[in-house]
Amino acid sequence: MTTPRLEVNLGKIVHNAKTLKELYGSKGIGVIGVTKVVCGDTNIAEALVESGISVLADSRIANIRRMRNAGVQAQFVLLRTPLLSQAESVVKYADISLNSELSVVKRLSKFAVNNNATHKIILMVELGDLREGLMPSDLEDTVKGVVGLEGIELVGIGTNLACLGGIKPDEEKMGYLSSLAGDIEEKFGMTLEFVSGGNSANYNWFMSTKDVGRINNLRIGESIYLGCETLYRKPLPQLFTDAFTLVTEVIESKIKPSLPYGEFCQDAFGNVPGVQDRGQIRRAILGVGLQDVLVSGLTPRSDIGILGASSDHIIVNAKQTDLKVGNEVKFNLNYGALLSAMTSPYVIKKYVNDL
Ligand SMILES: *Cc1c(COP(=O)(O)O)cnc(C)c1O
Repeated sequence: MTTPRLEVNLGKIVHNAKTLKELYGSKGIGVIGVTKVVCGDTNIAEALVESGISVLADSRIANIRRMRNAGVQAQFVLLRTPLLSQAESVVKYADISLNSELSVVKRLSKFAVNNNATHKIILMVELGDLREGLMPSDLEDTVKGVVGLEGIELVGIGTNLACLGGIKPDEEKMGYLSSLAGDIEEKFGMTLEFVSGGNSANYNWFMSTKDVGRINNLRIGESIYLGCETLYRKPLPQLFTDAFTLVTEVIESKIKPSLPYGEFCQDAFGNVPGVQDRGQIRRAILGVGLQDVLVSGLTPRSDIGILGASSDHIIVNAKQTDLKVGNEVKFNLNYGALLSAMTSPYVIKKYVNDL
């Protein structure tokens, strides 16, 4: 079978999703399955639904539209604050969207009214990571602005940490979100269906907290796919960390010097390579490169070392492995590598199911 290909083990994904759903459910926290790192892949979305996850979230409408059109039976959440220019398709394809701008919610309201629909929203609150969210001091006024809008139903509040600023979701942050939820419910006489505390980075907080407070939801992607938490990237008990495998192929294999010879200038990407002299080594070239995957996010499954990469080549030190032309070489992928391999049209996706 041709390469580069990404082998997607749906059985392992189902196992991970079920295990996490049960774990978080043990303290009353529901899991939204996040599909953005797999680009809304419909086979993977079906696997999440099979695991008992009934709400799926993606950052792009194009992915949500694809899943919906493929007949995936779930509620769909748009994770990224809607683009003003896409408000109409947001109302059309997403059941719920995460929002932080009143002007956007007003536009959603307009299209919801036009389409005789109700669009649900979760207001995102900034708690220090400094990506999306209203400043907490603006929350009450924004809720006031939102509750009067026709075609819009406020179903929750949420926050997102450890994405841009690397800020940890801890007892204090989660306690604060809980108290904001309580304030809103009291002042506006409503019940918030979702108090969504974060993502795969909330694992350590969840395990250590004695009281989850009002937090009743997390939006989980990476833990399901890669089997780790995301503050320290530690593998989680009972989860598979190898649900995805990048399979590549040797196209040249020769004993060559480890040190380039001639006068050093820039490489293909404008860097001046700094190379260590290890004498003569077996250098193998793999028919895969930066057009296929974020090479810095790959870890070989066997004892070889990545020396460098360009658009279409990865060069490895084969060490003691006798790599021959045509041999397959397998890699683990981190989040960035997975995202790029799922996005690249050059990488074939192959679905397997064995555990
Ligand atoms: C990507 C994303 C998530 C999921 O993050 P993981 O680290 O993959 O669990 C959750 N919420 C929002 C808003 C996101 O953008």
